[in-house]
Amino acid sequence: MDFNQHIRVIPDFPKPGISFKDITTLLGNGPAYREAIDALKKQVEHLKIDLIAGPEARGFVVGAPLAYALGVGFVPIRKSGKLPYKTVEVEYELEYGTDRLAMHVDAVQPGQNVLIADDLLATGGTIATAVDLVRQLGGNVVGAAFLIELEELNGRSRLDNVEVFNLIQG
Ligand code: AMP
Repeated sequence: MDFNQHIRVIPDFPKPGISFKDITTLLGNGPAYREAIDALKKQVEHLKIDLIAGPEARGFVVGAPLAYALGVGFVPIRKSGKLPYKTVEVEYELEYGTDRLAMHVDAVQPGQNVLIADDLLATGGTIATAVDLVRQLGGNVVGAAFLIELEELNGRSRLDNVEVFNLIQG
């Protein structure tokens, strides 16, 4: 399947110069959504994965069905202040200012193999933060899987020793 045909591109959103890759058109098409998750599953199923971790919110719609398909657990990575139990947190740079991502301290056990999943790899700031969080808990990051990788932004250069998987190169 040409997954790209199911992605809607919105020019100049949320601001001039950004070409926004809208995955809601893929998610809204049952056969395309299923095939996309199945295709990502095929790319990563040779890895020994104990858990998938995905950042809110679009990391959930890729990571959770992939976890279900592989029969492994799913760990949400959330903005600071949303998780109810004790957390580990990492601050990261946004274009203007900073933000913090959080995981429950017991979400990953030391030595567990974790695949990180998200909708799109752009500059890699979000996923580098997710990798940092998982490693702080002693997890072993075995890969990062995306529907879309914007290769010209070279986000993968920020992910040391993490194999990157994608369905669409934007
Ligand atoms: P980054 O931290 O730069 O890799 O970008 C992180 C998140 O921002 C991705 O997970 C996307 O959800 C979103 N994002 C960044 N650039 C785009 C884009 N051009 N189109 C759609 N979403 C984007």
